[in-house]
Amino acid sequence: MEKIKKYTEVDDLGFYGHFGGAFVPELLRDNLEELTTFFLEIENDNAFQNEFLSLLKYYVGRPSPLYLSQKLSNEFKCPIFLKREDLNHTGSHKINNAIGQILLAKKMGKSEIVAETGAGQHGVATATVCALMNMKCIVFMGEKDIERQAPNVQRMKFLGAEVIPAKSGSKTLKDATNEAIRYWINHTNAYYLIGSVVGPHPYPAMVASFQSVISKEIKSQLKEMTGTENPTKIIACVGGGSNAAGAFFEYYDSNVELIAVEAGGLGVNSGYTAATSVVGNPGVLHGSLTLLMQDEYGQVVEPYSISAGLDYPGIGPLHAYTIQIGRTKSISVTDEEALKAAKKLAVYEGIIPALESAHAIAALEKLKFESNDVVVVNLSGRGDKDMETYLNLDSY
Ligand SMILES: *Cc1c(COP(=O)(O)O)cnc(C)c1O
Repeated sequence: MEKIKKYTEVDDLGFYGHFGGAFVPELLRDNLEELTTFFLEIENDNAFQNEFLSLLKYYVGRPSPLYLSQKLSNEFKCPIFLKREDLNHTGSHKINNAIGQILLAKKMGKSEIVAETGAGQHGVATATVCALMNMKCIVFMGEKDIERQAPNVQRMKFLGAEVIPAKSGSKTLKDATNEAIRYWINHTNAYYLIGSVVGPHPYPAMVASFQSVISKEIKSQLKEMTGTENPTKIIACVGGGSNAAGAFFEYYDSNVELIAVEAGGLGVNSGYTAATSVVGNPGVLHGSLTLLMQDEYGQVVEPYSISAGLDYPGIGPLHAYTIQIGRTKSISVTDEEALKAAKKLAVYEGIIPALESAHAIAALEKLKFESNDVVVVNLSGRGDKDMETYLNLDSY
């Protein structure tokens, strides 16, 4: 009997349906093949998995709580749980993946880590694990982003990382990515640490696997709290899609409704948006064939969102695929709706969410619930980094 393929399984070339693959210069083929070999090895390596889980427990502080928000539950007339990734060390889910990949880099015998960052959140997570593991850390960041995200640049430097400005093109994330890849090609001892479920195969599958700890925990926590491990709906915001992939992972092959929330920016038809699954088309970005925002000539269109972490012109191939076939539903939330939701969660629960996560909270207003619904919202990060934006609002 032919084995039924799981949604989360890629084929040998790294495709989920039509999306994914590895569209890279010839010079990177060997690097990716070496990485794939090691990744397949560690998936079933008990010693590796034990070290990973031990760091997640004692260093990151996992499991993160699953918290029943009484006030959101009252408002929407069904139980609403928050998966508290905001309580992780460094303040978001990104550290889960960073820990997994740095252990892999160590196992591969690499001596330095190269990464790119846009808002700086992934750069901070990378600089953190490099300090922990005594690895040299080089972070490329667009010159413009360095100016806009000064506190994160200071954090990375304080942690011992070298932050190198990318001065080409629009001086933002995609330029930093180009420089990081160039560095990777020229330094055989460097490990390229990608921060979301994007990039050439095996990165999307690997990052999803490291982040799947989120849905593994949701399963056992829900079982303990409600008697059953499946909610009816899971809601998560999507930049590249790593927190969503982690929150959905164990539930793809079930009938749980999966809702991916993209940043609508000023509105999906305004020209200022990051709602890739609505305005994007298939194309190659960052080494993989996926949905991306592009003009008629295939040039990447600069995305816009008030939230730096969602301000990405693509979406991971797993999401492109599952949205295309209807397994995942995508909706979008505007800047204004996200800001309101952040304020609401702050006064309801005393939890200040990251602007990214506030998009997932805002999605509650756009969905219909029955009293037998059980909802999990992945609270991907905390809002300390966003206080300046929150305080500039005139509405309060
Ligand atoms: C980076 C970030 C995101 C977006 O990245 P994904 O890969 O889509 O998860 C979401 N929330 C927070 C708090 C982030 O730092």
